[in-house]
Amino acid sequence: MAPRRPAPPAQTVAPDAAAAFRRRLHAWFRKHRRDLPWRHTRDPYRILVSELMLQQTQVSRVLDFYRRFLDYFPDLQALADARPKKVMEAWQGLGYYARARNLHALARHVTTEQDGVIPSEPVALRELPGVGAYTAGAVASFAYEKRAALVDTNVARVLQRVFAPHLHPKSGPGLKQLWVIAEQLLPRTGKSTWTHNQALMELGALVCTARVAHCTACPLTAGCATYPLLAAAAQDADAQHGTAPRPPKGTRRGVRAKNAPPKSLTKSTASGSRG
Ligand code: SF4
Repeated sequence: MAPRRPAPPAQTVAPDAAAAFRRRLHAWFRKHRRDLPWRHTRDPYRILVSELMLQQTQVSRVLDFYRRFLDYFPDLQALADARPKKVMEAWQGLGYYARARNLHALARHVTTEQDGVIPSEPVALRELPGVGAYTAGAVASFAYEKRAALVDTNVARVLQRVFAPHLHPKSGPGLKQLWVIAEQLLPRTGKSTWTHNQALMELGALVCTARVAHCTACPLTAGCATYPLLAAAAQDADAQHGTAPRPPKGTRRGVRAKNAPPKSLTKSTASGSRG
């Protein structure tokens, strides 16, 4: 039998690099954050509703559905008491209806089995219907201000480009390493972790996007492992009179045109799938 291939060494981020990353990212977020309704609440029910709606769906599309759903079901008990047909009606048009069914099952479970209290620890949250590792981290961090990491597709892309361009963010081992990096980057307190996680997701949605890496508008160029590769590819293309560069792994189009701010930064409700 062929010997097993050894696991790749765990990725580590030096403490000073992690501190510089946080400083730049948080300063950028304070200036550029969008005003989104779920950023004004610490109610775990409302955070859960927003997080489930944002799975596979862009922010701009979720906004109206989020308000409407909360008008129908303003708290966990109201949702638990509702008939399944009413819940599906409130979700109508948003798609991926398993999310609505899971949310309803979660509300009934928590109200009957857990005294109506949504747990605050990621391990306990993961026991609930429809709650995976990302959603558990998001609820712990955004509702309870716990020092919990989270990695969705936006965060995975940013961490992969900055720290580990060799990793594949969608492979099992690659994703596992990105979770390790996310843990290493966490600030010391839960309150700062709220800002940190929101900022990471916002940068992935607005600047370091799947379609284009808007490096000229990014606060992380100084420590980003992918940036020099993209800049060199853009320079090569310039030298060859406008021939399109071949972007490095993990980017589709490379650096956006010089000094052009991303359109998304100029819109208050720019879209960005949260995965
Ligand atoms: S410098 Fe470019 S590739 Fe690196 S994180 Fe910023 S936008 Fe992404």
